[in-house]
Amino acid sequence: MDTKKKRVLERVKEEGIEFIRLQFIDIFGMLKSVNVTPDELEDALEGNQMFDGSSIDGYARINESDQCLLPDPDTFQVMPWRPKEMGVARMICDVYNTDGTPFEGCPRTQLKKVLKEAADLGYELNMGPEGEFFLFHTDEKGRPTFDIHDHAGYFDLSPIDNGEDARRDIVLTMKKMGFQIEASHHEVAPGQHEIDFKYDEALRTADKWVTFRDVVKNIAKQHDLYATFMPKPFAGENGSAMHCNQSLFKDGKNIFFDPDKEYQLSDEALYYMGGLLKHAKGLTALGNPIINSYKRLRPGYEAPINIAWSNKNRSTLIRVPARRGSSTRIEFRSPDPIANPYLIYAAMLKAGLEGIKHKIMPPQSVEEDVYNLTAKQRADLELEYLPRDLYVALKEMEKDPLIEEAIGSHCFKRFLEGKYEEWNEYAEQVHQWEIDNYLKKY
Ligand code: GLN
Ligand code: MG
Ligand code: MG
Ligand code: MG
Repeated sequence: MDTKKKRVLERVKEEGIEFIRLQFIDIFGMLKSVNVTPDELEDALEGNQMFDGSSIDGYARINESDQCLLPDPDTFQVMPWRPKEMGVARMICDVYNTDGTPFEGCPRTQLKKVLKEAADLGYELNMGPEGEFFLFHTDEKGRPTFDIHDHAGYFDLSPIDNGEDARRDIVLTMKKMGFQIEASHHEVAPGQHEIDFKYDEALRTADKWVTFRDVVKNIAKQHDLYATFMPKPFAGENGSAMHCNQSLFKDGKNIFFDPDKEYQLSDEALYYMGGLLKHAKGLTALGNPIINSYKRLRPGYEAPINIAWSNKNRSTLIRVPARRGSSTRIEFRSPDPIANPYLIYAAMLKAGLEGIKHKIMPPQSVEEDVYNLTAKQRADLELEYLPRDLYVALKEMEKDPLIEEAIGSHCFKRFLEGKYEEWNEYAEQVHQWEIDNYLKKY
């Protein structure tokens, strides 16, 4: 047994851990978990914990359903919100087939594959996400309500910002779990909050993103609140994003920075953006995976609608934040918080690498507010729209072979299958808006 695994066994003893959650991610980005006790841990660390893959969305078929979990000892964390006595810890796992080969439908495995492709070219992807979510009241039975928790706005303080205590506990819990928190604040919409944590190597950031969502939901619950990452709970208010700040490092140096170039951005930075913009339509379904995601991508709410980049402007798909030097990065702004981070990171990186490989120059940056352009300005800038709904986004994804290469055929096919089903179910419903607007009129 290697030293990392031994260290896990020691920590379980030292910290009185009685339950170890083996967590993994399904294709749609949901965190799953099975508990083992310390007695079974040694065996589990060797990848011998089996589960029924046919019960996980998008995983195995019923006739080939046994799968195994291989925990990543680096992800061992005590869950601070569980009791100290008989404590609970977790590890994030990769999914394997029973013959010992990696399971193609495991999103974490797919991200590792693309990170390896980048590493073979000498690149490391760093990712820094910004996380937004809403807090709602719960009812007397602890069930979520649609009663928003406060009516504060951007950067407001208590007592208007009622979420301050919950947000502080979320931040403190995240810190106990190894996060470095850069900022936390009330966001623009009522009951909306943001927490930003420091960038890390992309696999670690993806692990942290699913952990972040878990912490937010659990700590909110302790405050008798319900936290949702649903992208757009209210028409007429801002929705929630997962902005993805990304940069490539080579030999420990940020290669997006070049002090001698226009905007101080290197050719690689421009090509990487070129790749992202070229595949922006194909990427959308992964970053914006539910019907509600597209209610967020509308003009006027700081969310992108067009395929463009800018140096500062917050209305474009890609923005280059002002920081330079080792902090030079590009911010991809369309993904929302429920996206599967492993799959969208894999696909963004693949697109960026293609940009570098084929020297794809992005078009001129757009510094105007793209929400308020005239038709003529729009035509002159040759601005294209992002897909307007899930169906269009799925069609775009299906047409883009790079996305399939990035996330593997299994994830690609199952994602599309599952999402077309979701679309069809929605399309068959008669919505309240139709009743309100059509029933009496026609
Ligand atoms: N909430 C906005 C969105 O949906 C982003 C707001 C911001 O952080 N500037 O994209
Ligand atoms: Mg922010
Ligand atoms: Mg924000
Ligand atoms: Mg941002």
